[in-house]
Amino acid sequence: MADVRSGAKAMDLSALPPLREVLTAHDLLADKRFGQHFLLDLNVTRKVARIAGPLEGCVVIEVGPGPGGLTRALLQEGAGHVIAVEKDRRFIPLLTELADAADGRLTVIEGDALKTDEAALAAAHAPGLVPKIVANLPYNVGTPLLVGWLTGRFTPASMTLMFQKEVAERIAAPAGADDYGRLSVICQALAEARVAMSLPARAFTPPPKVDSAVAALERVTAAAFGQRRKMLRSSLKVLGGEALCLKADVDPNARAEVIDVAGFLRLAAASL
Ligand code: SAM
Repeated sequence: MADVRSGAKAMDLSALPPLREVLTAHDLLADKRFGQHFLLDLNVTRKVARIAGPLEGCVVIEVGPGPGGLTRALLQEGAGHVIAVEKDRRFIPLLTELADAADGRLTVIEGDALKTDEAALAAAHAPGLVPKIVANLPYNVGTPLLVGWLTGRFTPASMTLMFQKEVAERIAAPAGADDYGRLSVICQALAEARVAMSLPARAFTPPPKVDSAVAALERVTAAAFGQRRKMLRSSLKVLGGEALCLKADVDPNARAEVIDVAGFLRLAAASL
């Protein structure tokens, strides 16, 4: 991990160029390996930041600032200090420019959030401020990060986190709900959890298509094999039951064990 810099030059955040221009100027494209799906509309990132508010007197740890849309919003919504931890070093130069405009309120850290000591960072860069975490999380490390924060020594006052819809719903699911499981119990035992907002895939650049297809496949197979003795019309009831099967050209009276992979892919696609 490297502490890249703390900005100290006063400039107007609202005078910064649009995020798409910044990405083009730095010749940056999203890299799937880092789970990159960017929020480039500053109206959207301001809404996310407001959910975490009020931010005055707070130090916000942001994981994965990427092009910095959410980072800008956190600063504009009045965060006392933002500590942004980014693993993809290609983004460090543009984040450094943002730090220059942030009047000393932004510290950019190049590093892996899974190995970051947030308590030490907050104590070093913003002692005395109330700690919060806000992030549009990379989908591949979102759940381990959340569980680490819930159970670790760093105790933020709140965490405002963007997950895939399915994960967010599992976190907040009540007992008895279909998606109630281990993650729901761990999160709700240690915090109060709620789904605060939903965004369509098109709000992200690039839109996370493949992820939702994989999530749909997980959902369909979990439901079908969770009750493998039942006919699909019944085991898949919450996902559409008989109508879903007919849409996917799969026999609603069949059981999970006889459906081939192509059949499950059709069921997943039909459930989206
Ligand atoms: N916050 C930006 C936004 O909303 O547009 C980017 C969000 S993108 C979903 C996830 C970001 O997390 C990317 O910038 C990615 O490079 C970064 N990232 C991925 N794995 C990481 C890790 N282990 N530690 C820190 N950052 C990580």
